[in-house]
Amino acid sequence: MPPERRLLLVGAGHAHLHLLHHASRLDAAGYRTTLVAPAWFDYSGAASGIAAGDRDPAEGRLDVAALARRNRVNYRQGLVTEVDPSARTATTDDGSRLGWDVVSFNIGSVADVGSGEGVVGAKPLVDLARLRERLRVPPAGRGHHLTVVGAGASGIELAAHLAARDDTDRVRLLERSLRVGAFLPPRAALRLTRLLASRGVQVLTQADPVRIEENAVVLRDGTRLPHDTVVVATGLTAPPLATRAPLGGPGGFAVRATLQHRDHDDVYAVGDCADFLPAPLQRIGVHGVRQGPVLLTALEARAGGAPAPVYRPQKRVLSILDLGGGTALAVRGRWWWLGRSSLALKRRIDRRWLATYKG
Ligand SMILES: Cc1cc2nc3c(=O)[nH]c(=O)nc-3n(C[C@H](O)[C@H](O)[C@H](O)COP(=O)(O)OP(=O)(O)OC[C@H]3O[C@@H](n4cnc5c(N)ncnc54)[C@H](O)[C@@H]3O)c2cc1C
Repeated sequence: MPPERRLLLVGAGHAHLHLLHHASRLDAAGYRTTLVAPAWFDYSGAASGIAAGDRDPAEGRLDVAALARRNRVNYRQGLVTEVDPSARTATTDDGSRLGWDVVSFNIGSVADVGSGEGVVGAKPLVDLARLRERLRVPPAGRGHHLTVVGAGASGIELAAHLAARDDTDRVRLLERSLRVGAFLPPRAALRLTRLLASRGVQVLTQADPVRIEENAVVLRDGTRLPHDTVVVATGLTAPPLATRAPLGGPGGFAVRATLQHRDHDDVYAVGDCADFLPAPLQRIGVHGVRQGPVLLTALEARAGGAPAPVYRPQKRVLSILDLGGGTALAVRGRWWWLGRSSLALKRRIDRRWLATYKG
């Protein structure tokens, strides 16, 4: 029998879900695994559609507690608030202190938002869920007036979805740079811009918000743009726990290609909360998904004294923007396709992935 080691998994992000699903391999390698995470995992592939009221929230939810139970992993519902790598302990939000021999973080990212009833952040997804609630009842005598700040992938998805609703009178999309979709192949960006225009989305480029208030966005030149609700999708950043010393840094937990912390071999981090030192990675779910098997092999290798595997990010990844109204934009490198078949492909990929963990 290999000696038993305490493995603490913090957060049930994509890579840790893979570990839970293969927990018997961790048992066989001699780990006693404990997971600390909220009870539900919300899948971002379905997030825009759910938030805009297009899809049922149950479609994108996974019951983390049930998954842990099925795979006989100790589960503690909650959040880790402090980590002490020298004492090898983690403190949870109910004040419990948990010891570990090896710890792995997969706690996602957050959106940088202001505060107020009408201000909704795109991440964490539990916050984005507030948008759905706010859209239930339009203001008296008119439709919703909505602003989305940030025209990255999630901002575009959200604006397109919101504009496809019958009860929205106005959707604005604010973008700081010169044009929307600069990260897309030029002709795909053009098609997307036409689609947004055909749905009546008011796109404001070179818009530089200096204040996001409950009822208005204030631009640098003093212009006030009123709204009922604003969604802030200006990019994802590492959560506070991943930015605090001694383990965290400005971009998250700094990890090597082996997914191990720069300064601690017994600390791993994956997904959006990791600052992957060999090359900056986009904060997209696909890295968490692909890091899952690497992390599992790394933990087995560590227990067996084998060399650590490394994570090699793909050069080009398939990303599919769900634009509501039954259409989506699929992009891989310079290839792209906008239409119903892209949405069908996305739904198929999402369904298959979620089915693995729904049991
Ligand atoms: C609107 C929107 C749409 C998106 N659409 C896509 C898409 O279609 N495709 C794509 O690839 N990416 C998409 N993204 C990006 C995607 O959300 C992230 O890149 C992805 O979720 C990151 O995965 P992760 O495994 O790192 O963490 P997450 O999926 O965020 O999971 C982290 C988990 O950790 C838990 N947690 C957080 N803090 C703690 C703590 N202190 N202690 C314990 N647990 C904690 C959280 O509750 C969460 O369940 C989208 C983002 C947004 C905002």
